[in-house]
Amino acid sequence: MSRSIADSRSNRAAVQATNDDASASKLSCVKKGYMKDEYVHLFVKRPVRRSPIINRGYFARWAALRGLLYQFLDFDNSMGGKGPIKKQILSLGAGFDTTFFQLQDEGKMPYLYVEVDFKEVTSKKAALIESCIQLRDKIGESATICQEKGEVIGDHYKLLPVDLRDIQKLDQVIDMAQMDRSLPTFIIAECVLIYLEPDASTALADWASKKFSTAIFFLYEQIHPDDAFGQQMMRNLESRGCALLGIYATPTLHAKEKMFLDQGWQRAVAWDMLKVYSTFIDAKEKRRIERLELFDEFEEWHMMQEHYCVAYAINDAMGLFQDFGFPLDHPAQLSGSTTAAESHEKIAS
Ligand code: SAH
Repeated sequence: MSRSIADSRSNRAAVQATNDDASASKLSCVKKGYMKDEYVHLFVKRPVRRSPIINRGYFARWAALRGLLYQFLDFDNSMGGKGPIKKQILSLGAGFDTTFFQLQDEGKMPYLYVEVDFKEVTSKKAALIESCIQLRDKIGESATICQEKGEVIGDHYKLLPVDLRDIQKLDQVIDMAQMDRSLPTFIIAECVLIYLEPDASTALADWASKKFSTAIFFLYEQIHPDDAFGQQMMRNLESRGCALLGIYATPTLHAKEKMFLDQGWQRAVAWDMLKVYSTFIDAKEKRRIERLELFDEFEEWHMMQEHYCVAYAINDAMGLFQDFGFPLDHPAQLSGSTTAAESHEKIAS
């Protein structure tokens, strides 16, 4: 597709605005008690109250990422005597995500946390960090903040501007951030790659696989654009100017797994959010949040959750991730012919 047609369906400002939506929705959840986040309110100009179904969806998204991230951050605590292994997190299209600030309070900070986004977004985030003492306290006394450049550079936290479609620049930025390619690395792409043209996402997955030999690549985004619900979802987003340019290249769980394997990742698993919610998210937490609001949109909830997925890809040069991931998963192997989606189907049938 030519750039101009792509731009009319998807424009930079509209895609950036999805970040404000995400923050507003997360704040809506926090206010209702779905999860704790003492920082997200600092990033939301106009708080809104979302419907119960949206709140529950954002809770599921948050709990899925947290669950996998904690597995990654905690895995060496049980490796008796060896002491903690240095780890790093890279958040692609991080927006106003507050995970970095929260992990500090939770005592789970990795050695290095790096966030990248468009400069328009990192500048705003840098400005907010500069002006809020709660945020500034967390980045370390020696950190420098430059609003014009859209940069925050601390010893253990970096916020940097880059267009993810420019892999060469991204590579330079990641080196500048002093990410160590040999350290275990958790890469987050939450509602980001789906806005890129398929070639750009593929190039990113390829770059990340070559760059980090011990890594998890976490993805949360939409699937199934072609059924009635999917078509409506696509129309809604297109009318807002933020078309999901990537979705037709990877419209299914199998396609998401294949995309990663084709780019050299050793294993890949993709589940839709219905399955993530029923099988992965903690049962006690679900009981708790399901009591927070009156909820009767079950049919809509099922359809919506079938149109979002979590995919993760694994490179495991250090042999750390045998037990990582969703329960009972049988990940697609680079050399194997059965995909995780297929093996799940076999188990179910
Ligand atoms: N990951 C965050 C924000 C999601 S909104 C969260 O889940 O809360 C999508 C983000 O991706 C926006 O902040 C947008 O600016 C960023 N983004 C989209 N395309 C990008 C690109 N080509 N380069 C850099 N950032 C991009």
